[in-house]
This record gives sequence, structure tokens and C-alpha cells, in this order.
Amino acid sequence: MPELPEVETVLRTLEFQLQHPCIQNVEVFWPRIIDGMDVQSFQNALIGQTITGYKRTGKYLIFELDAFYLVSHLRMEGKFYVQNKEDPYDAKHTHLIIRFANGKELRYHDTRKFGRMYLYPNTEDLYKQKAFAHCGYDVFDERVTPKYLYTQFHHRNIVLKQALLDQSTMAGIGNIYANEICFALRLHPETRVSRLRKKDFEQLLVETRRILTQAMAAGGTTIRSYTSSLGVDGRFQLSLLVHARENEPCKICQTPIQKKMVKGRGTYLCPHCQRKK
Ligand SMILES: [Zn+2]
Repeated sequence: MPELPEVETVLRTLEFQLQHPCIQNVEVFWPRIIDGMDVQSFQNALIGQTITGYKRTGKYLIFELDAFYLVSHLRMEGKFYVQNKEDPYDAKHTHLIIRFANGKELRYHDTRKFGRMYLYPNTEDLYKQKAFAHCGYDVFDERVTPKYLYTQFHHRNIVLKQALLDQSTMAGIGNIYANEICFALRLHPETRVSRLRKKDFEQLLVETRRILTQAMAAGGTTIRSYTSSLGVDGRFQLSLLVHARENEPCKICQTPIQKKMVKGRGTYLCPHCQRKK
């Protein structure tokens, strides 16, 4: 699943490739991709709209239009392709095509069909809409402070890995970066968050933002489900210190990296460097 750095990379690539085109028509092959609206209303609303901006909150892509926000969550396997109208496409897995007046097309491809799109009038508060009901502030939102994280987490009976993945508090981190953040903190992913002090949350925020910033600069991490649909390959997989490195030596202490399941998620850690509090 693409996480914050991959979604940001997709968004910036789309902005570069598409810029600000006007929508000529919209074809929907799998209506359930659109959440909370029938296909006809979705099409009618989009035709004639221009993409005026590209934004992201957590793992959500937000296309700003003249009168609407078009919101997309890629979930497991969702991908966008920018192609010309004469280019062939994969009819089995392409579920939606937005055609622009300049002859380009934005094609949404999803082998698992878990991704969703939402359309909201831009006269309303986007973050009060259904798509964001369980989405907290973005990792880079200035309202996310060590004090905020401490207030949100210190009384909760969950482990560090779960806290990092909890999108309703701080949005954008998925499994890969959660593993890397725990390693950077030298904390076992099963450390209870109630044992962390304010200064631990200070460090957590610094390391989280550092790792995600470096990953964005590298164009994200390309492993399995996130690939070069837009012709961009991420390079951050070369910088991963624990994720997907089972039995390989820890880059600090040479102890073999362990893999274990934590709350159902594949978790990689160095048993020597990472301790519980
Ligand atoms: Zn180690």
C-alpha cells in the first residue's frame, strides 16, 4: 500500500504531467469506485471542471477543481496512469477514465478494487466529509506536536507500532515506515505507548518527519504494490534499515533482523538495538 511519501510522489508526478487541464468527459467502468454518489451525478459534476491544484492529506490525494474536491484513496493497489487517448489500456483493471480537452487521459487502475474516490463541493469543509471521518492531521501538519501526540496516546492501551499506524491521530504512516521509525527510535514495536514520556514523543516526531522527508526526496519506496505506474521508481527501498530485511545483519550491530507479526502486520526489528521501555 502506498504510504505518505509514495502518495506525495504520485501527486507531484500527476501535477507535472497533467498540469491544469479541463475535463471533457468521464467514463466509469466500476461504479463502486465512487463512494457516496451515483455515476451520472459524478460525471455531470466533473465535466467542464479544470484541475486547479493538487494536495495531499495523509494517504489521500486531493484534486482541487473549480467547484469541487475530487478525493482519491489508492488503498492496496490503486494506480493512476496519464496517457494519450489513442494509447491502449488494460480493460480488465481500468475502472475510471477522465478525459481532458488537451487529448490526455487520467486512467485509474486497480487490480484489487479497494481504492475509492469521493467528490465534494468546495464550498464545504473538506475535512468534515465522510472520506476524512477517520483521518486525523497529516504528519506534517503543524497541529501535530509532541504535546498533541502525548495527549492522544499516553492513556491508550496500545503498542507503538499500532500508534504509528493509527490514521485517526496522525495520518500518512503505513507498515514500511512504521517499522523504520521504530528502529530509528531504538524502540521495540511492542513498546506500550503509555510508557512513553513527552521527550519520547518529541523524538518520535523528529524521526518520523526525517524519514518521510528523505523518502519523499527519494521518490518513495518501490516494493511490490507501489510501482512505476507514472514512470517514476522510488529509491528509498535502498535506504530501508529493517523493513523486508529478515535475517540480514542489522546495519548498526550486525544482529540478524527478525520478522514477527505485531497486531497482524509484518514487523521487522533488530532484537539487540530495539528494546521495550
Ligand atoms: Zn541492531
